[in-house]
Amino acid sequence: MLTTFGEKKKTCFLCGTESTHKGLISTASLGSTDLDSRPPEPERSSLSYWIHTCPSCGYCAPDLSDGDRAFEAVVRSEEYRNTLENPSTPRLAGQFLCWMLLEESRKEYEKAGWGAIHAAWACDDAGVGEWAARCRERASELLMRAREMGQWFAEDAGLEEAILVDLLRRAGRFEEALRLCEDRLSKEPDETVKVILLYQKALIGKSDNGRHTLAEAHRQVQS
Ligand SMILES: [Zn+2]
Repeated sequence: MLTTFGEKKKTCFLCGTESTHKGLISTASLGSTDLDSRPPEPERSSLSYWIHTCPSCGYCAPDLSDGDRAFEAVVRSEEYRNTLENPSTPRLAGQFLCWMLLEESRKEYEKAGWGAIHAAWACDDAGVGEWAARCRERASELLMRAREMGQWFAEDAGLEEAILVDLLRRAGRFEEALRLCEDRLSKEPDETVKVILLYQKALIGKSDNGRHTLAEAHRQVQS
């Protein structure tokens, strides 16, 4: 079995309530990663185990036993409650967006950005494209903020821009995506980033806002 799960008891950092959650012990992925770094199956489908919610206070985090005292006020805020209970977004997306709000509140923009990206993936899976696009816009804003603050969200600047280009393209913001793409291409990026950006440029040219993989990018360059 490629993916193994385990039940874990967690004591909520904020309210002290104990609850049991299914968590990921190990997983693997076979095939090609998406251009926004989403892993292939079976890891792809394990998304719902990446975040947990305290049944008592509504605290959402990858690890409920860890946190920040300042989160208490955020969890009680109207924005947080509305995000968690929003009937028009999938429950899983709401949980990731709550985590995003918490990390944003303590200026951890890199983590907040990933929260928004994971929320977008949950929206993709639930087939709510409009919300997925909104989450990607939010993610791009947070990750640009992260860059300004010197918080890294990928291995190097070129890969960060490749992820940002994909977020903008998939949110339908083609002009901004193209500008960022051309800007990075003019700075002679390394080969991997160049391959991705040339493929992104072709997709943007076709106004394609769909999901594509790294393997497709490499195939396109070889042909
Ligand atoms: Zn709690």
